[in-house]
Amino acid sequence: MWRATILTLYPDMFPGPLGHSLAGRALAEGSWTCEAVNIRDFSTDRHRTVDDTPAGGGPGMVLKADVLAASIDAVADGRPCLAMTPRGRPLTQARVRGLAEGPGAIILCGRFEGFDERIFQRRAIEEVSIGDYVLSGGEMAALVVMDACVRLLPGVMGAASSGVEESHESGLLEHPHYTRPALWEGLAIPEALRSGDHARIAAWRRARSETDTRSRRPDLWGHHGDGRVQSPSGARQKKNEE
Ligand code: SAH
Repeated sequence: MWRATILTLYPDMFPGPLGHSLAGRALAEGSWTCEAVNIRDFSTDRHRTVDDTPAGGGPGMVLKADVLAASIDAVADGRPCLAMTPRGRPLTQARVRGLAEGPGAIILCGRFEGFDERIFQRRAIEEVSIGDYVLSGGEMAALVVMDACVRLLPGVMGAASSGVEESHESGLLEHPHYTRPALWEGLAIPEALRSGDHARIAAWRRARSETDTRSRRPDLWGHHGDGRVQSPSGARQKKNEE
């Protein structure tokens, strides 16, 4: 069973959208669990303070390292601990897959200006960003991470979750999809997809996957290349050798 524990000031936000559709069914069936823990429960003063003003001045408030540490220590059990922050490493499908294959995750949600930086020096925490924009809090980012993981759990999505053809699984965007009617507002479904010729369909999909990746996401294409990828050392090597 994959276990998510969310450390948040807004525990009522969970499971939220993940209580619906496929993730919701998997939750009800016990394929995964979602436990939201209120960071405020680990405050030590009578005002239940969790934040304080930024050292050096400036607007907003900063989540206190001592309160954060107490909340982490209360739930830590060897699962990876992630903190949601726009300063983090951008989330990738490869990291999602790694998390989904593990025992679950502890996910720390920021609010206000974010976290006292010293928490990252004193606890093993992976700083994760879901993209180059700023949210008002980490809760929706945590839901994004959880949604991406849960759909990969065995049985959650059925055949579709093998996911090998999905965008980003191969380093490419997936090809576009069509469904009936065959002709809509003067637009026909591409002939190859109606041919019934499986090899031709596969070739069409592969070609669209490549051209769309090249035109829409030259950054991804740069890494993918012609089926070759740049190894960390900088040496070129065939992708299927990795
Ligand atoms: N002052 C911070 C932003 C704080 S936004 C900065 O400029 O780096 C408040 C909280 O929202 C953050 O602590 C984080 O938990 C969450 N958040 C905002 N944008 C995010 C993103 N792109 N990815 C993940 N979490 C994000």
